[in-house]
Amino acid sequence: MSDIIHLLPDSIANQIAAGEVIQRPASVVKELVENSLDAEAKHIHIIIKDAGRTLIQIIDDGKGMSATDARMAFERHATSKIKTADDLFSLYTRGFRGEALASVAAIAHVELKTRRVEDEVGTLLKIIGSKVESQETVSCAVGTTISVKNIFFNVPARRKFLKSNETERRNIFTEIERIAMVNPDIEFTVIENDIQTLHLPATNLRQRIVQMQGKSINQQLIEINEETTLAKIHGYISTPQFAKKGRANQFFFANNRYIRHPYFHKAVMTAYEPLISATENPNYFIYFEVEPDTIDVNIHPTKTEVKFENERTLWQILMVTVKESLGKFNAIPSIDFDTADAPDIPIFDPSKSTSMPKVSINPNYNPFQTSQGDSYKATKPKLDWEQLYKGFENEAKTSSVSPDVDADLFQTYSENGDSSFLASPEHYQYKQKYILTSVKSGLMIIDQHRAHVRILFDKYLSQVTNRKGISQRVLFPEMIELTSAETSSLSEIMEDMEALGFELSDLGNNTFAIHGIPSELQNIDAVALIRSTIDKNMETGSNVQEQVHESLALSMANFTAIPVGKSLSEEEMLLMVNQLFACQSPNYTPDGKSVITVISDEEMDKKLK
Ligand code: ADP
Ligand code: MG
Repeated sequence: MSDIIHLLPDSIANQIAAGEVIQRPASVVKELVENSLDAEAKHIHIIIKDAGRTLIQIIDDGKGMSATDARMAFERHATSKIKTADDLFSLYTRGFRGEALASVAAIAHVELKTRRVEDEVGTLLKIIGSKVESQETVSCAVGTTISVKNIFFNVPARRKFLKSNETERRNIFTEIERIAMVNPDIEFTVIENDIQTLHLPATNLRQRIVQMQGKSINQQLIEINEETTLAKIHGYISTPQFAKKGRANQFFFANNRYIRHPYFHKAVMTAYEPLISATENPNYFIYFEVEPDTIDVNIHPTKTEVKFENERTLWQILMVTVKESLGKFNAIPSIDFDTADAPDIPIFDPSKSTSMPKVSINPNYNPFQTSQGDSYKATKPKLDWEQLYKGFENEAKTSSVSPDVDADLFQTYSENGDSSFLASPEHYQYKQKYILTSVKSGLMIIDQHRAHVRILFDKYLSQVTNRKGISQRVLFPEMIELTSAETSSLSEIMEDMEALGFELSDLGNNTFAIHGIPSELQNIDAVALIRSTIDKNMETGSNVQEQVHESLALSMANFTAIPVGKSLSEEEMLLMVNQLFACQSPNYTPDGKSVITVISDEEMDKKLK
C-alpha cells in the first residue's frame, strides 16, 4: 500500500485555521481594527455593508506597509510584532500570532491598499481565498485600507451559520465598543450601508464612556484609582443609586484588552453589597494594568478569559478600592470604615522581609477536655455541627499567622504564654451572631458564620488540593437529576468532588446516584449541596483548576458553616476563635467579607465621655 499521509495545501490549512480566528464578521472587524491600532493610527473608519456579509472596510492613518511587507503580511505566522518566544510573554499589542490577515484572506475577497509616509507610491494587493490575484503600485494616502468582501464565500457551512443581520451587527458593535473603551484618544467612525451610525471623536476616558453609554451616565460616575506593586487599577464605577435591575454596563480590561472575569465581578459586587439589593447591578468600567508576565492572556485571540498571578490578592485590592471609592463618595455610612472595616492590604514587597507575628498555642489543648473537673465534662456540648470540626483540632495548632493580621490582636493572645491565654479571654455571644472578646487594643467582634466559613474553606481547599477528603459510604444512595448543562458542569468538577469525598455514579440520562459523601458532612442535605456546588461552578464559569477548587471549597463552606442564630457554648466559641486565628487570612472570608472588627478603647472612651 502506498503512503497515505500528505500535507494539506496551504490554502486549505489557512481555511481551517481561519475558523479559529474568524468566526463571524465581528471577528474580522476586531482583528483589522486592532491591526490599525498597532500601526498607531489616530483615525479609524469602519465601513460595513449588510452587517459585514458583503463588505467590511477599515481605513486607517497608521504607519502603512512597504510593498514587501504588504505581501508578507498575508503569510501565516507573518508578524512584525514577535521576534523571539520571549516576546510572546511581554507583548502589549493585540493580535500577536500573525494569523489574522492570513485567516481573513483565506475566506474572503480581500483588497489591501497601503502606503508608508516615506514612500512615494503605495501598494494595491488583491487576494481571493489565499490566492494573490494581483499586486500593483497605486497612489494613495498614508495608512492602510483593507476591504473584506463576501466573507466565507468559499466556506458555505460557515456562511450558513451566520445569524440574522441584527445579531451579526450587534456582535460587531460589541467588538467596537470594547476597543473604543480602551482607546479614548483614537477617533472612530462607523458607516453602515452608507450612513454614519457612530462617531467617537478623540477624548479622555470619562468622556469616551459618556460617548458610548449615553450622557446620563456622566452624573453617576465615580472615579477609582489605586496603585499597588501588583497592579494599577483605575476607571469608573457608578453610584449605588444608579444600579439597575437586569443587565448593566460592566467592563473589565487588563492591559488594554477587554476581559471577562467572573471572580473579580464578585469582588465589585461584594463592595456594593451593603448598598444595593441583590437584583440590582451597578455599572462599572475597570482597567487593570499589570506586568505582562503576571497575566496569562489566553493565547487564543478570540478568547477573553485571562488568568492573573496573585488573583486572590487582586480580588481583595479591587474590593477594597471599590468600597473606599464608594465610601469617599459618601455612599457608604462612614461607620463602616471608622470601625476598622478596612484594614490595609499589605502589598508584597520582596525587597523587605516581613516578620511573622507569632501565636503560641498549647498543642495539647483540647477545648472539649477542660481541667475544671468532671462536672464540666458532663456538660460537653452535643451540637450537630460539632462534627464539622472533626479532625480539625490538629490544624488549629498551626503556630504562625500571615502578616495581614493586626499584630496587636495576637499580642494579647501570646503575652500570657502558652495554654493560659487560651482559657483567659472571655467570650460572649451577642444576638447569636457575633462573638465578642477583649483584645489588647479594644473589643474584638467576630462574625460567627463568616468565621466558620473561613475555617471550613481553608480546610476544604486543602482537602481538595491534596486529594485528602475521606468518603463515607451511604446506605441508601440518593438520586440527583440534572439538566444537561448541569451534567456537563458536574463533569468538570467531578474529579475534585471525589477528592473531597463524594462518590457519584452516572446512571445516564443526566441522573446520578450519590454513593458516598465527605465524612464530615453527615447531617447535610447532600443533594442540595451538590446542586448548589454545580450552580456555583456554572456561575463562575471558570475552568482554571485553582479557581474551580476555590469555588468548590467556598460553596461547601457556605453551605456547611454554622448559621447566624445558632447559640454557642464558651468552648465552642473558644475553639472557633482559635481555629480562625490559625487560618492564614482570618480577617476576611474567601469572598472578601470582613470577619473581624475591633472597637478601640479610645473609641469607647470617646463615646462614653
Ligand atoms: P499580527 O497582528 O499578529 O502581527 P496580522 O496577520 O494581524 O498579525 O498582521 C500581520 C502584519 O501585517 C502585522 O504584524 C503588521 O506588520 C502588518 N499589518 C497588518 N495590518 C496593518 C495595518 N493596518 N497597518 C500597518 N501594518 C499592518
Ligand atoms: Mg493582528
